[in-house]
Amino acid sequence: MIPPSNFDFHCHSNVSDGLLAPAQVVERAAGLGVSHLALTDHDDIDGLFEAGQAAADLGICLVNGVEISAEWDGMSVHIVGLGFDAVESGLVAGLNEVRSGRLERARRMGDAFAAMGIPGVFEGALRHAGNPLLISRAHFARYLVETGLFKEPRNVFDHYLVPGKPGYVEHRWASLADAIQWIRGAGGVAVVAHPGRYRMSGGRMRAFLEAFKDLGGEGIEVVSGSHGPDHVLHFARLARHFALYASRGSDFHGPKESYVDLGCMGSLPEDLKPVWRLINF
Ligand code: AMP
Ligand code: MN
Ligand code: MN
Ligand code: MN
Repeated sequence: MIPPSNFDFHCHSNVSDGLLAPAQVVERAAGLGVSHLALTDHDDIDGLFEAGQAAADLGICLVNGVEISAEWDGMSVHIVGLGFDAVESGLVAGLNEVRSGRLERARRMGDAFAAMGIPGVFEGALRHAGNPLLISRAHFARYLVETGLFKEPRNVFDHYLVPGKPGYVEHRWASLADAIQWIRGAGGVAVVAHPGRYRMSGGRMRAFLEAFKDLGGEGIEVVSGSHGPDHVLHFARLARHFALYASRGSDFHGPKESYVDLGCMGSLPEDLKPVWRLINF
């Protein structure tokens, strides 16, 4: 019997802020019955080669992926790119550009913590980052948990790392237009990541999806590790309304840090057009 397909098109390795190496992510996915996996590290595609080799060994299908940090109308949003050519120069240069400011932003975050009387936070976070250029708020959260000041990364985010809190530092990411253009220019499909996480009113979300489509975006995550059942129903409706392809992804970061494990989410509502129809395997 052919096993059923299980698509997980959003997850992270330690190339960005995940906890497992790319090959370990693939091994875990295969063990959990994932048939098609997209590794979507933040702003970096360096894990794809290692992941591709592991996938070939294990007989699962790896799709090239990335999660680009972008901004639209003053808000930070994440755009997943799928099925692109990973050596296309425009995409590679664009990702280099997005990464370039992360280390400086992290230093400023460290300064903000020092000003609150908590020194050494930048250095501590840096130790958690595999690649210093991809240092993320997640690494700050892990360091502050390690110090014993907090129990869970989530608590650090709530008290310090989200807009309006004292460890949050404004940062310029890619424009929405550029992020979509880099993905499409490399032959890929652009997908709105975890829309349920954006604090947007209904009208603003519709304006965002309108802009996203006008700029060439084609997909939206309907099933996500960050989504509850109400989100799935809501974003399924929006996918229908805007004629967007629907994606499914865990947003797995590590065994102890994620809401759901690789491939362990519900299915897409059956009437939606799955985004994998647009990908050549
Ligand atoms: P950055 O790209 O540096 O802005 O960091 C964003 C990352 O932090 C996300 O990709 C998640 O991995 C993590 N993150 C964001 N918000 C939260 C939260 N509320 N709780 C735990 N992790 C979070
Ligand atoms: Mn992350
Ligand atoms: Mn994200
Ligand atoms: Mn993610």
